[in-house]
Amino acid sequence: MHVLVTGGAGFIGGHLAERFAADGHDVVVLDNLDPFYDLDIKRHNIETARDAAETGDGSYEFVEGDVRNAELVSDLVSEADYVYHQAAQAGVRPSVENPRKYDEVNVDGTLNLLDACRDSGIERFVMASSSSVYGVPRSLPYEETHPTTPVSPYGASKLAAERYAMAYSEVYDLPAVALRYFTVYGPRMRPNMAISNFVSRCMNDEPPIVYGDGTQTRDFTYIDDVVDANVTLLDTDAADGQVLNIGSTDNIEIRTLAEEIRDQLSPDLELVYEERHDADAEHTHADTTRAQELLGYEPSHTIREGVGKFIEWYRDNRDWYEPLVRG
Ligand code: NAD
Repeated sequence: MHVLVTGGAGFIGGHLAERFAADGHDVVVLDNLDPFYDLDIKRHNIETARDAAETGDGSYEFVEGDVRNAELVSDLVSEADYVYHQAAQAGVRPSVENPRKYDEVNVDGTLNLLDACRDSGIERFVMASSSSVYGVPRSLPYEETHPTTPVSPYGASKLAAERYAMAYSEVYDLPAVALRYFTVYGPRMRPNMAISNFVSRCMNDEPPIVYGDGTQTRDFTYIDDVVDANVTLLDTDAADGQVLNIGSTDNIEIRTLAEEIRDQLSPDLELVYEERHDADAEHTHADTTRAQELLGYEPSHTIREGVGKFIEWYRDNRDWYEPLVRG
């Protein structure tokens, strides 16, 4: 299969491209190498997927370009059987500083892909959405029918993008699926996310920094579970026209997570508490029944197992990864 992965130089897109290439597919990555974080991490993502193509039966091509370029997007989509749209301006807090860029990339960029997919008649369009679309919890865990009241421009842009995808599915019969990811972590993860921060600080005998009182809760989701959910969508139309939660269901308070990582790596450290950011969600917790019913999705990593794997990976890759995440 020809698979186009947008944002494939990033964390999640990089893992997807690696898996598709290892599984023998012809992968094309479109990514503009946005300098949101150190580009050397993205170069590692590209090289890892390229290596997977070489050792597997697949092929890999990297195209440096922007999802806001409709002509380029149309050319690439016309060659693809499947489109996995991961490109986005990510990050909740920075979206407060520059909401328009989030609109241009996350909404207009998605519309370019949707137009191209509609015109070329692809097998399936799968897009990365986010638990940030929920915003304010009225009941937890979130079912997909829970009201969506995003509290950040980032969440608003992801909601608009997934609504367009669902509208294209309805109006143009485009086979489209939106996966609402819940805080994804694992090898080569983005800097400035809680788990990479806690681990890298504790490894260096610096106290983990918790924003707010740490009673916020998250369903941290291990990258392999996210990749598995995406891969399943190559073979089933059961979820076409749907949004699905992809979370871990193993909900944990941020301060408990920080304490557990601290206890493993540097038990004498005291946690440091700093002011919470208004755009950060208070609680996220996924009801994954729909993904389980339609895709057979079963997250296979508890938070302790996933963090254990990440710490092991971090130790093995500390020489190149640590300087890049610590800046
Ligand atoms: P990431 O920043 O590592 O990856 C995004 C990639 O998109 C980057 O490589 C970036 O260069 C690229 N990109 C940005 N703007 C672009 C543009 N205009 N044209 C082409 N490429 C562009 O982020 P990630 O954590 O891998 O997230 C992937 C997707 O998953 C995003 O859509 C994000 O909104 C979504 N998501 C991520 C999480 C998470 O916890 N990581 C949670 C929910 C949703």
